[in-house]
Amino acid sequence: MIDTLRLTAEEAKRLLAAKELSGAELFAAYRAAIDARDPELHAFLYVCDDPGGDGIPLAVKDVIGTKGIRTTAGSKILESYVPVYDATVIVNAKAGGLTVLGKTNTDEFAMGSSTENSAFGPSHNPWDLTRVPGGSGGGSAAAVSGGLAPWALGSDTGGSIKQPAALCGHVGLRPTYGTVSRYGVVAFASSLDQVGPVAKNVRDCALLYSIISGRDENDSTTVDVPAVELPDAEDLNGLRIGIPKEMNGVEGVEPGVTAALTKALEIAESLGARVDECSLPRSVDYGVACYYLIAPAEASANLARYDGARYGLREDGADFREMVMRTRDAGFGDEPKRRIMIGTYALSSGYYDAYYGTAQRVRTVIKREHDELFERFDVLVSPTSPTVAFPIGAKTNDPVAMYMNDVLTIPSCMAGLPGLNIPCGLSEGLPVGLQLIGPQFAENSLFRAGRALEQAIGFDVVPERLR
Ligand code: GLN
Repeated sequence: MIDTLRLTAEEAKRLLAAKELSGAELFAAYRAAIDARDPELHAFLYVCDDPGGDGIPLAVKDVIGTKGIRTTAGSKILESYVPVYDATVIVNAKAGGLTVLGKTNTDEFAMGSSTENSAFGPSHNPWDLTRVPGGSGGGSAAAVSGGLAPWALGSDTGGSIKQPAALCGHVGLRPTYGTVSRYGVVAFASSLDQVGPVAKNVRDCALLYSIISGRDENDSTTVDVPAVELPDAEDLNGLRIGIPKEMNGVEGVEPGVTAALTKALEIAESLGARVDECSLPRSVDYGVACYYLIAPAEASANLARYDGARYGLREDGADFREMVMRTRDAGFGDEPKRRIMIGTYALSSGYYDAYYGTAQRVRTVIKREHDELFERFDVLVSPTSPTVAFPIGAKTNDPVAMYMNDVLTIPSCMAGLPGLNIPCGLSEGLPVGLQLIGPQFAENSLFRAGRALEQAIGFDVVPERLR
């Protein structure tokens, strides 16, 4: 019997290499787990019948294009869209011996923090089915946490890998901007979007990152990446950890989250790290406002391509203009419409410099604030999310409350920096996530620190109700 709740990808790889297990058996085990538990989790929008190979199954967020497999981005406008090519990350995954298990639920066009903006209904948190798994990558998070996939791909624009990992209690990496190809990935905000791994532990996360990352001729923003080292560190000797005071123990961060983090930092010190307070005053104050101008501005441009002529849905109209209007009205949900309006307004002539231009200048300030801290610290640590998983429906009528979920994840995303979520404890019986932020291309040091901490914390990633 394969215990899909506990099997790591690394162990699966070993069993496959030793021929103690076949790819088909592995695939069948996850299919069975999906049949048993996905009706209550709704992690998947599509499940493949055939592995198409003999490797480790991989769940894929449905914003990532898969040849011959419907790719909806959680939107009605792409409900019938079947890509004719694989995204580069899928090409890399297949070349690395992985097989596509299915496509996971997401907020529409990855816009959201709970998957409640999916046109196909929300996913549920494996720890508590009445709560959200986070978003936008809640489907990938619920799949990994619920034992429906050994690992998964997510995408992160302002926190969509890190925050669901925090709310579901597992590991997720938002890689440095430019290390993973965006070719074939449905674009949300191109200067922020990054694909990254979702996994049960830091070693699996590093392994998947090593498979998907690297320069891609089809994405001119990508670069060569330092060789990925599978971490086996057990101490944090000499590691200089900075704790931005605006992100820790402040109003809005739940006391249970602060308590779990404080305990994790004590563990970090006992492992040899030096922990000191630091400050990111403007990044935290202005990050969310700045993001919610830049991301919608880029989204309004990226979503212009859904015109009824080129992809997916097409409504009838008396002429071209009416056809486009009807298609976009019927195809987009409320959140993309809201962002297209905000973005179009922010980019309109007369307002462009006041809004978009100012936001870009603030972004430079955010980047500089981080750069200065990395002269004194190796990593920055804070909670990933200010709260544990919240009840489904709790924030759907208040977009600004929903946006404030991202207050801790957004600053480093704006600065293009890598961030690793690891679970650090429970509050009210729900997982609390800790994020480690590093300088650009410092994935290896995040993996080392994350691995040492994860071992010492000893968090059990299997949701209590499924043990
Ligand atoms: N929650 C943020 C948003 O709604 C981030 C989403 C993401 O990273 N894709 O834009």
